Amino acid sequence: MLVERPLRLLRAFYKGAIWRIRKKKKTIYLTFDDGPTPDITNRVLDILDSYNIKASFFCIGKNVKNNPAIYKDILSRGHVAGNHTHNHLKGFEWKDEKYIENVAEAAKHIKSNLFRPPYGRIQPSQLKALRKNYKVILWDLVTRDYNPKLSAKYILFNIKLLSRNGSVVVFHDSKKAEKNLFAVLPKAIKFWQEKGYEFSVL
Ligand SMILES: [Zn+2]
Repeated sequence: MLVERPLRLLRAFYKGAIWRIRKKKKTIYLTFDDGPTPDITNRVLDILDSYNIKASFFCIGKNVKNNPAIYKDILSRGHVAGNHTHNHLKGFEWKDEKYIENVAEAAKHIKSNLFRPPYGRIQPSQLKALRKNYKVILWDLVTRDYNPKLSAKYILFNIKLLSRNGSVVVFHDSKKAEKNLFAVLPKAIKFWQEKGYEFSVL
């Protein structure tokens, strides 16, 4: 279960990145990565609307370019967008210059001061460079909804066990996550609401 909640040691390595934002009032920060995705993101937006919740969407630049109407819908419905690179790059595999260029390419389509590195993988030099222009957001809990080998029951169990005040929680508005995302999201929201959590954007 350490996979779902990153270790302190790992957090310390990512200097200046945000994992959790503790508030006086119990708060959950819902985030959705890798969209906009046709037939997925719009359904997420409808679920969020039905509970009157705002969330943060870390979009892939290429997907925004290909689905501008869905991206507009995210913003017009009161949610916040963040940059998740243009091509979903793994920071460890790219030279700083290329990586930063790719973030800048995504920024042509996504106006935001929020950035989340794909896979949570970013080199310290890349993090340092991006922090000049971005708040770098990691997470307190990753649901692993994208893994079809995990059951919705298991994912929900981890959410109930590991989420806490200020948790930044990651879901994915992607095809890969579809099965688990829609099985888990409404139940997780109901759980948090019953426990008295509020929802906020980054
Ligand atoms: Zn991603």
